[in-house]
Amino acid sequence: MKIKLRYSHEAASKPILAEVILKTGLLINILEARLTPKEGEMVIDVATQGSALKDALEHLRASGLEVIELRSLVEVDRVLCISCGACISPCPPKAISFDQNLDIEVDVKRCIGCGICVRACPRKAIRLI
Ligand code: SF4
Ligand code: SF4
Repeated sequence: MKIKLRYSHEAASKPILAEVILKTGLLINILEARLTPKEGEMVIDVATQGSALKDALEHLRASGLEVIELRSLVEVDRVLCISCGACISPCPPKAISFDQNLDIEVDVKRCIGCGICVRACPRKAIRLI
């Protein structure tokens, strides 16, 4: 599961993720991180489910982080999108494709939240969430 973590000023200076990994033994893959000494955001992929995932999320929340479970890392504005396809080939894990109606489709399991599609879109129709 992909999860966005928001760090407050107090949390930004603590090794919270390392502590949670040590306590729970979870395998956590950091997909994106923007941290300053004052605040920050991180997107992680947690390779577990069920009660182990619930425990990990509770540890993270108890450590002072805002925890947002992500169903997708990007959002396409269907009004702005003109189905030009400019976002498809730059996507490193090939997570974007056309569906049968030639609408853009993002495979949430493949997307790593790199933001390359955001920069590639001439219409600013796709954004990270
Ligand atoms: S954020 Fe990166 S991985 Fe996800 S759809 Fe865009 S280019 Fe592909
Ligand atoms: S680059 Fe932008 S406008 Fe073109 S298909 Fe992708 S999201 Fe739509």
